[in-house]
This record gives sequence, C-alpha cells and structure tokens, in this order.
Amino acid sequence: RAKALGKARYKIFDKVMYSETTKLLQLEIDLRRAIERQEFLIHYQPIVCLKTNKIIGFEALVRWQHPKQGLVFPTDFIPVAEEAGLIVPIGDWVLKEACRQLHEWQQLFLENRLTISVNLSSKHLSQSHLNEQISQILQENNLDPRRLKLEITESALLENTQSVTAMLVQLRELGIELHLDDFGTGYSSLSYLHCFPISGLKIDRSFVNRMDINGENAEIVSTIITLAYNLGVDVTAEGIETVEQLERLKVLQCKYGQGNFFSKPLQASAAGDLIAKQVNLASSSKCLSRGKK
Ligand code: C2E
Ligand code: MG
Ligand code: MG
Ligand code: MG
Repeated sequence: RAKALGKARYKIFDKVMYSETTKLLQLEIDLRRAIERQEFLIHYQPIVCLKTNKIIGFEALVRWQHPKQGLVFPTDFIPVAEEAGLIVPIGDWVLKEACRQLHEWQQLFLENRLTISVNLSSKHLSQSHLNEQISQILQENNLDPRRLKLEITESALLENTQSVTAMLVQLRELGIELHLDDFGTGYSSLSYLHCFPISGLKIDRSFVNRMDINGENAEIVSTIITLAYNLGVDVTAEGIETVEQLERLKVLQCKYGQGNFFSKPLQASAAGDLIAKQVNLASSSKCLSRGKK
C-alpha cells in the first residue's frame, strides 16, 4: 500500500515538475523572441532630493510587453534571463535606450543635470569590454559620464572576482557613478565596502517600508544613513510610500528618495511631463525674482 501511495505521489510530483519545466522552457523561448523583436520597454521612476523636493534623475526599470501575457515585470523574467544567458543582450538594450532617452530629454528641456540610473546584473559586470561599450554609448548620445549611475547589488560584488573589481574601478574612472542597490539585504561585511569605488547606497525598500511603525527597521535605516555619511557616499531611500516615512527620512538627513509617494515608474512621455513641469517652475521663479529687483 505504501508503495502504491509512493507511486501516486511520485506521479503528482512528476506532473508538477513537468509543467514547471515546460513553463520555464516556454519563457526562455519567448525571451529569445522578445530580444529579436524588441518587445522590451522602460519605465522611469523619479529620484528626488529630499531637501529641495526636486527630481534629480530617474531610475530605468525594464518591462516586457509580452504579446499574449501583457506587461511582464522584471522579477518575473530577469532571473530566467540570467540563467539562460540572455541578461547581457537585454541589459545592453536597456543601457542604450536609457541613454538615448536621457539625451532626448536634455535636448527637449535644455536640462543637463538630470541623471539616469541603470540596473546592471553581475553577469554583465564580467563582460570584459563593458567599459568600452558604455563609453561608446555615452559618446553616441553626447552624454557626460557623470550623468550615468549604475546600480549593482551587494551580492554582485561579493560573488565576484578581481576582474569585476577592476571593471568597477575602470567605470568609476570614466566618471560613471556606482550605487549599491537593495543595500542591507545582502551579506555585506561593512569592512569590504571601502574596497570598491562606490558613489552611493540605496536603502532597500523592505526597511523603508514600515519604518514608521517598526522601530527595528527605523534603526537599520538610520544606521545605513550614518554609514553612508561616514564613507562619504550618497544615500537614497527606496520605496517611500507615505508622508510619515518621508518625514522620518528627512529628520535622519537622508539625501535622496524614491517611491510611490513621489511617483510610480512612468512611461517615458509621462516622465518627460514631470521634467517639463519642473523646468517651467524653475524658469518662472527666476522671472519672479528678476521682477522683484
Ligand atoms: P530595484 O532596482 O530595487 O528597483 C526598485 C523596485 O521597487 C522597482 O520594481 C520599483 O517599481 C519598485 N518600487 C519603487 N517604489 C516603490 C514603492 O513605493 N513601493 C513598492 N512596493 N515598490 C516600489 P520593478 O520595476 O518591478 O523592478 C524590480 C527589480 O528588477 C529591480 O529592483 C531590479 O533589481 C530589477 N530590474 C529592473 N530593471 C532592470 C534592468 O534593466 N536590468 C536588470 N539587471 N535588473 C532590472
Ligand atoms: Mg535599482
Ligand atoms: Mg533596489
Ligand atoms: Mg529591489
């Protein structure tokens, strides 16, 4: 009887396994097609200076416009893309498109201080010509390297080798900023941080979220902000959703913030509207102050 039961279980398990595997294979096939047919798009989320309330730049967040399933979010395809060796072509496209978009905004709004933040997977960092490739993209779009911020996770730093460290140094020497994403969730021993040419830390949203009701989270956020100041690097809070969270972050002197409280990730045109508003406000207040004289 036990044997029969075991067999039945095995069959059920087998079916589940089978359908999971076919799903993954289908996803991989779909992703290859998506790269060929350019089914990706980018949404842009503003990053705000908490002192001035001004947008200082945008984070580029990739989406996949699947012909049947509609809009697919990165957490549902980036891990598969990494496994299947497809993350580099996808990441290349995101880098190019995000830089092209920033250049377009610069032309449209005569605004050249905005930055663009692009997430880079660890597989991408081990591409030996990444620095040359990025230089070329910047040149093609007439962009100052200081306008580009690359976001990498702690685990990407840790799993990696001398060649990655060397690449980070080269990218930083070009003038590109490197920001540690989802900071606080990895295994970072703090002592290793100064070994990398990091320009900023992004506090993971799991800590920012509920920091207004959870003392422990608030403590972690406060510690990361202090750490950033001690290291002499910028600090950005991700996932700000409420005015209470924002107020607390301001008290803690967090420099930058990002989250649905300010704006969800937007289509390029809607992000452009936000830039236009900010540029118009600035020029009308200039006129006002001139009028006063
Ligand atoms: P991330 O880099 O930490 O990006 C922030 C994520 O938090 C985004 O999710 C964003 O939509 C979400 N978010 C922002 N504000 C809020 C908020 O107030 N509340 C909540 N609940 N969520 C908020 P998204 O766009 O789904 O991206 C998820 C992750 O996928 C990113 O996390 C990043 O690790 C990865 N990713 C996105 N685009 C790319 C890409 O082009 N290349 C690579 N390699 N990874 C990417
Ligand atoms: Mg990011
Ligand atoms: Mg993050
Ligand atoms: Mg995240």
